[in-house]
Amino acid sequence: MMIMMKSLKIDFHADTLYKKLFSQTTQFISGKFPFFHFSKEKMQEGDLDLQVLALFVPTEVVNLSVEITMKMIALAYKMRDLEGFQLIKNKKDIQELQNNDDLGIMLSIEGAIILENNIELLQLFYELGVRSIGLAWSRKNNYAQGVPYETNGVSDEGKLLIEELDNLGIIIDVSHLNKKGFFDVVNITNNPFIASHSNSFSLCSSMRNLMDDQLEAIQSVEGVIGINFNPGFLNNKPENASIKDVINHIDYITNKIGSNYVGLGSDFDGIIKVPLGLEDVSKLKLIPKLLSEGNYSQKDIRSIMGGNFQRVISKVWKK
Ligand SMILES: [Zn+2]
Repeated sequence: MMIMMKSLKIDFHADTLYKKLFSQTTQFISGKFPFFHFSKEKMQEGDLDLQVLALFVPTEVVNLSVEITMKMIALAYKMRDLEGFQLIKNKKDIQELQNNDDLGIMLSIEGAIILENNIELLQLFYELGVRSIGLAWSRKNNYAQGVPYETNGVSDEGKLLIEELDNLGIIIDVSHLNKKGFFDVVNITNNPFIASHSNSFSLCSSMRNLMDDQLEAIQSVEGVIGINFNPGFLNNKPENASIKDVINHIDYITNKIGSNYVGLGSDFDGIIKVPLGLEDVSKLKLIPKLLSEGNYSQKDIRSIMGGNFQRVISKVWKK
């Protein structure tokens, strides 16, 4: 008899490490964040299995990017050792997470600017657990440009980086990337890639969202778009944003390209304002509930809640 394994529930983007690090030092964002959207208890309550934690370096301190990234990685290892999270690094870890009630965390670099002049550290970041990399944040770097910059796509150095990421088995993340860069990635990588935290431009005209031709490109490479909960990316009137908008973006993308290419990338702890009904990670459990009231089968819902990201993981990761 075949044993049915559950598919994981995954949120592919939260900025909790950044918030933890800078709320310790408080010199950059003193008192701006009253509390964390993500915690162990909230993750359990929200019925989430795997939280991807971004390694993001603010522009003011980008000259200290390696030091700051290493400190954030150290915080993730503390979460593992002191709070009992499992740090997910390979397919065996994913399989184990499917078979138990552990809480998984995974590391992702948000903005390859961290690798500028430090490319020899890529292998080390990999060893430490980085399994996804965003080519650019909303600024320029040697490899690519984030929105709103539009002059160039992926550079020659960027092309080499993408080839190296394919070799290592690191998932490429195109959220924040400009449109030229996006379509360069389509042509360069041999792997499915993701937009970990971006929405549909047709529903909400933020430059951080993806146009229909970009959605179709992600379908063609069998990638995934993770829905971002930033009210400004959900609704043209951000003050009205609610959990219903998250469902609307899922509906729109599903109608356009199918339910196999959409997931969740909340941006929790990176966003200041949250949509009504999705105040923190504990509320994630409401999403499958709302989807089941719509036109979705249980299989569709499992795909959207994490199965699609799991498919990309199993295709891109080498082990
Ligand atoms: Zn971001």
